[in-house]
Amino acid sequence: PLTEIQAPTGPAGTSYPLYASVVIDIPSRALSDPFAYGVEAAYADDIDEGSVVLVSFGRRMVMGYVVALSPILSELPAAADLDPSKVKPIRDLLAPSSCSELFASVSFWMSREYVAALSECLRLFLPPGGTPRLDKADDGTYRLKEPAVHAVSERVVSITPEGADYAPPANAHRQRQLIEALSCGPVSTRELNLLYTDMSSTIRTLSKKGVVRVDERRAWRGLGDETTLSSARVAAPKTLTDGQQRALQEIYSCLQAGRGDVILIDGVTGSGKTEVYLSAIERVLKQGKTACVLVPEISLTAQTVGRFRSRFGGLVAVFHSRLSAGERLDQWDMVKSGAARVVVGARSALFCPLRDLGLIVIDEEHEQSYKQGSSPRYHARDVAAFMAKLGGFPLVLGSATPSAEALARVAAGEHLGQRWTRVEMPERPGSSVLPRVVISDLRREFAAGSRSIFSKPLYDGLIRVAERREKAVLLHNRRGFAPFLLCRECGCVPTCKHCSTSLTYHERTHALECHTCGAVYHINPYPAPGSACPQCGSRYLAKMGLGTQQVEDALRQIMPAHVDIIRMDADSTKGKDAHKELLEAFDASECAVLVGTQMIAKGLDFPEVTLVGVINADYALKMPDFRAQERAYDLLEQVAGRAGRGASAGEVVIQTYLPHDPVIRAVATHDRSIFTAHDLAQRQEAFYPPYVRLTNVLVWGTNQAATKRYIDKLAAAVRQCFDSLRGTDQAWSLAGDPTAAPIVLGPTPCVLERAKDRYRFHFVVKSPVGYHVSEAIDGALSQIGPQPGINVSVDVDAYDLM
Ligand code: ADP
Ligand code: ZN
Ligand code: ZN
Repeated sequence: PLTEIQAPTGPAGTSYPLYASVVIDIPSRALSDPFAYGVEAAYADDIDEGSVVLVSFGRRMVMGYVVALSPILSELPAAADLDPSKVKPIRDLLAPSSCSELFASVSFWMSREYVAALSECLRLFLPPGGTPRLDKADDGTYRLKEPAVHAVSERVVSITPEGADYAPPANAHRQRQLIEALSCGPVSTRELNLLYTDMSSTIRTLSKKGVVRVDERRAWRGLGDETTLSSARVAAPKTLTDGQQRALQEIYSCLQAGRGDVILIDGVTGSGKTEVYLSAIERVLKQGKTACVLVPEISLTAQTVGRFRSRFGGLVAVFHSRLSAGERLDQWDMVKSGAARVVVGARSALFCPLRDLGLIVIDEEHEQSYKQGSSPRYHARDVAAFMAKLGGFPLVLGSATPSAEALARVAAGEHLGQRWTRVEMPERPGSSVLPRVVISDLRREFAAGSRSIFSKPLYDGLIRVAERREKAVLLHNRRGFAPFLLCRECGCVPTCKHCSTSLTYHERTHALECHTCGAVYHINPYPAPGSACPQCGSRYLAKMGLGTQQVEDALRQIMPAHVDIIRMDADSTKGKDAHKELLEAFDASECAVLVGTQMIAKGLDFPEVTLVGVINADYALKMPDFRAQERAYDLLEQVAGRAGRGASAGEVVIQTYLPHDPVIRAVATHDRSIFTAHDLAQRQEAFYPPYVRLTNVLVWGTNQAATKRYIDKLAAAVRQCFDSLRGTDQAWSLAGDPTAAPIVLGPTPCVLERAKDRYRFHFVVKSPVGYHVSEAIDGALSQIGPQPGINVSVDVDAYDLM
């Protein structure tokens, strides 16, 4: 295709001082390969790897990304056989490079690994502010569309060296105020005007005299007061625990040798993992390098950020989804300019322009939020491992409940040629001990006639917290269990007309809402509790499932008035700073109970919490998912870890109807092996990850029959590709059978058969670890071609198979 598209329309016979490999920005997987262009002398100094350029492509002008440069054409990828006289020039430089050094190699790898268009992967590395677009001006020239956000600057006032001895006249009250305000250093005009109402005329007077000067300075938005939580100001410990020392030794030896190892810190909650990250980063900064720390979005709280800021101050940039576009741009520029050398952020922070990256840390490594839900559907852990290998620096993973993937790789000692090691940190520092766990059997409570939300042990615990003026955290995990209406007579549950999901009932508005498409149904056509069932007309429509609101209400009934009750769920944290404000209120309170969904389980470190309650552990255990056990264990262990982090011992009460489940027993005894051994063995036997890779191919469309026909064709083509590999050196062995090829399961309708009026089908590919499915799936997709009205998504290492 190269020679065909590069038809000799350009000035023939030209030779260039430099040649560039350019990835065309077209969201098509088929056009992923880069094309060669010439760089004219005028641009040779300014075009870099990562530059955004304008090129002609066929009969169009398009934008593209430079991924490689060479003075010798044949040394560029995919340009070996190209005739230099047919190479067209780059027409314009649209934007200079703003990428980390690893961007090109990582993009190529991701594109292949995750069956994604290369341009899509490259875009991850571009500055925030939306995908760049090409604009054609009236005069026929092309520009990048102006970004919606701009850099902002502020004016700062400072005293000049000559002005140091200036003594204001006796009656110049305002001048004295200004000089006093500036005595400790420069202050922005905005702050001065806030403090002293309008100072501008005084500033003008004194700057004419040469006493003060005004400078324009880049202002960084998004550097809020993240350090305001008192408990965030943790000083570095004087002595490290044995576990911490072992972890740091492992990291330091990698740093020294420039080895790209993966080091799993398998440490109970509160064992001091964050302290290890902080010390390791200190070392990396001393080497003149930079560090990137990923934390799950949900635990990217003021508290977490505060701990990094209190150690590294203004060197820390932060990325999370609650930043505005302008704030995000400023954080990005801080990194780009080198002002920030430590980045703390959610998964996409991996792609920010850190130069000389020397360490990546992924905290709570097992968290599902590290997997991106839209294309490219990458897993941050795997991208980071690739970057570490490429850059020769360590990747540190931390978890109290490591993923099955990490455990299996550590057990093997390596994964795809990269060393994986583990350091265990089974103890908490100092006097802090693991909390006592009480399993409260709800079957017995029920048999004894109790109908309360709170079992006896939990009730007693809460009253004790109130009496001793301590703090408690109550988890009400509602994942997949929102309140809905159910007919007690016929079992009918009102469902959405567009999706096949049951509707969530909202008590305040008496409305039923679809959480897939957002459709809201008012009492008509579906009735409120007490009115008739849409199917059988019965009057016994009852509400099922408790909300956090009801737990809060029940709590208010039993707790004395001096106890603050704070609720944290999707509804109460809608505002930009709501999350932070609720945690601050909990932090500041004398005696409080924090009630919340899974968002409270992670990362909070409040030493005064002595009781943690789980309203019902069974919702987590009974999810229809091969990772349900792992996830339930993680959730329970994490929330239990919120108790007893300070000097006083903590207690955890877990309410359940399934007290003998291996997960519950493991949490109760603090012995993870009770369930991990069982879980890993089950997965190996049933061919589930981490022993095979799962790829979910989803097809959706408005016409049910056409969608079904399309996925049948696609699955058949993929099967054929795999069959043709049988017996070749690309064949793989499943269950020790060297003739076996990857397996295609399905196609079948999805569990969620219809969403937003689209019919959904999928098939699942099971393939060996280390095998790239992209060739087969790409091949099948281009063989069949796209079909209008039908969408396809390919999710490699899928989490969600529904
Ligand atoms: P994790 O990240 O494993 O949950 P943290 O690093 O947050 O653990 O540590 C838990 C608590 O113990 C924090 O308050 C921290 O300041 C404290 N801590 C950590 N390491 C030490 C140490 N070596 N000596 C004393 N206290 C420590
Ligand atoms: Zn009914
Ligand atoms: Zn719907």
